[in-house]
Amino acid sequence: MSVIYDRVALIGLGLIAGSMALAMKRAGLAGEIVGTARSAETRAVAREIGLCDRVVDTAAEAADGADLVVLCVPVGAMSAVAAEIGPVLKQGATVSDVGSVKGAVIAAVAPQLPEGVHFIPAHPLAGTEHSGPRAGFAELFDNRWCILVPGDADRAAVARLRALWEGIGSNVDEMEADHHDLVLAVTSHAPHLIAYTMVGVADDLGRVTDSEVIKYSAAGFRDFTRIAASDPTMWRDVFLTNKDATLEILGRFTEELFALQRAIRTGDGQHLFDYFTRTRAIRRGIIEAGQDTAAPDFGRTPSKAG
Ligand code: NAP
Repeated sequence: MSVIYDRVALIGLGLIAGSMALAMKRAGLAGEIVGTARSAETRAVAREIGLCDRVVDTAAEAADGADLVVLCVPVGAMSAVAAEIGPVLKQGATVSDVGSVKGAVIAAVAPQLPEGVHFIPAHPLAGTEHSGPRAGFAELFDNRWCILVPGDADRAAVARLRALWEGIGSNVDEMEADHHDLVLAVTSHAPHLIAYTMVGVADDLGRVTDSEVIKYSAAGFRDFTRIAASDPTMWRDVFLTNKDATLEILGRFTEELFALQRAIRTGDGQHLFDYFTRTRAIRRGIIEAGQDTAAPDFGRTPSKAG
């Protein structure tokens, strides 16, 4: 493939930025990749492992002269980063992000960008529970979806960003910010909160020892623990910034949970059977769409992906 952007700046050098850098290199899509992170420690690791062509000390330095700037920091940090890079952005540059929430990021970033810069928010639906500059891998986005939220951005600039995401392995869709935030509340944000809660419940339950929880975790709990090991800062920011949609989904979840509780209490096996038959079909649909495999691994297969 050929170069799409002469210079790409990655602000924040964790799982997502690291994977983007490796995937862009794999496909030869960027003339130069410049990266930066908040801490000297992360910058030193990124230099040591050669994550980017150049690692600089500040976001402003990274964004200066870049054709594409991607904000890869937690959602709550986007505003401060946008304020720092706004004054140095070059005319015609594209600014994007990878934040898990879109409405709040748009509100935080858009007002800080100068005229003549294209702002095209994005969210790759790919991740693992690992963070930091060593967590990235080039295959993270392969056959995963990336949602662009372009609003009324320039269509040529959108096509260029779409080509980048497709070039690093993603399928690309476009959505409105509100709809994105609702879809993600269902598919990601509420499930994470439920996993955090389930692991918290097990931790609090005195009658089951910690060693039993760990030893017998393959009975379902293991998948919750993987999700509940996700980065606390990132997920705190997701819930604080996608409040309305998450609360709406949790309200519906609570109602369904009460209905299942009643079915168990009253011995309504038909209700339980019908419910589980419906949910099983959703799992089959995900496998048929190529978004997971049916192969059980029970934690025995070493895998980098979450
Ligand atoms: P990560 O591995 O924890 O990396 C975050 C990066 O942001 C680090 O380089 C960190 O710098 C920097 N950072 C943290 N707080 C900052 C602040 N206040 N100011 C400036 N820089 C700061 O995170 P990630 O998983 O790549 O997530 C990055 C973004 O992608 C988030 O917005 C998240 O919502 C989104 N996302 C994540 C996933 C996922 O599954 N992980 C999936 C899709 C989208 P230091 O290392 O120096 O602290």
